[in-house]
Amino acid sequence: MTRRCVLVYRDLPGPQLDRIRREHDVIQADPRREDQRAAFFEALPHVDGMIGSSVRLDAAMLDRAPGLRVVSSISVGVDAYPLDALRDRGIVLCHTPDVLTESVADLLFGMVLATSRRMCEMSSMVRAGRWLHNVGADEYGWDVHGKTLGIVGYGRIGQALARRAALGFGMPVLHHSRRPADSGLPDGKARAVGLDELLECADFIVLVLPLTGQTRGLIGPQAFARMKPGAILINGARGPIVQERALLDALDSGRLRAAGLDVFDVEPLPLDSPLRDHPRILALPHIGSATHETRTAMAEMAVTNLLNVLRGEAPLAAYPLG
Ligand code: NAP
Repeated sequence: MTRRCVLVYRDLPGPQLDRIRREHDVIQADPRREDQRAAFFEALPHVDGMIGSSVRLDAAMLDRAPGLRVVSSISVGVDAYPLDALRDRGIVLCHTPDVLTESVADLLFGMVLATSRRMCEMSSMVRAGRWLHNVGADEYGWDVHGKTLGIVGYGRIGQALARRAALGFGMPVLHHSRRPADSGLPDGKARAVGLDELLECADFIVLVLPLTGQTRGLIGPQAFARMKPGAILINGARGPIVQERALLDALDSGRLRAAGLDVFDVEPLPLDSPLRDHPRILALPHIGSATHETRTAMAEMAVTNLLNVLRGEAPLAAYPLG
């Protein structure tokens, strides 16, 4: 088998890197690192395959890589890739659905609990030595069980979240996607609704849909105005789906009780971002899939995808480019 050239643009666990090295030559260069940026661009003309994540690839980069046959993303979301340009050049885009579904759903439900029960604020109070009396009404949180959960984007992760909420916490579930989706739950536990009805009726609104031209900025002033006063918003999808200025306004006006954000417009979150230390925002550093087990499984799947395509075999998960 001909050895090909693979550009690895994110850290991979040693055993996964070894799997690639057994069959191909490897160049490691992450363009987000100043000292590796030049090496990344110098490698492009030679590469047959690329594997990584969290780097925005564009058509100009693809133009510099005429031999590129496969881009294997270590993620399920593919918003960082120029889909049309990949399709036009016949490059296969692979991703890692399913293996991260349950871990992301765990985190999102954890954010529902943490925001509603004010876990981070209360923990900070203890750490700062401000727990001097029994807590009173100013410190109380709000119940989660029995409240209505609205899920925007009812795919693999949305449905895994719904199972936790409906079966574990007795929460009625409202869900919204463009096409009708089976709830995957016993009758009466979940209902498909339009976005407006979901925003108006849910106590918790969880975003877990892809970032696309249609969803960029979807949650802005009008969406916040529809939300139930005291609703809690969790963004587990991608930052630009929520208009950050409108989110801050909704928190400050009291429309929104709290927000849990795992994703942001700019990541890592800039130090001067007002979202960073807002008392009613639980801000996490994009850790939806960040467990040892899941990141290992994602890396393994992404390497299998890459190697399969370079061998002329079907990958485990190619993203449909149309
Ligand atoms: P999925 O199975 O493809 O589910 C996506 C859902 O969103 C589908 O039900 C889809 O249904 C719906 N959707 C797409 N466009 C929509 C629109 N314009 N309006 C309403 N619904 C829309 O994907 P998944 O595996 O659940 O992952 C979902 C997203 O979660 C990913 O794209 C990624 O951005 C995010 N994610 C975040 C993390 C993290 O670390 N925070 C980790 C993993 C994934 P229709 O096509 O019928 O509308």
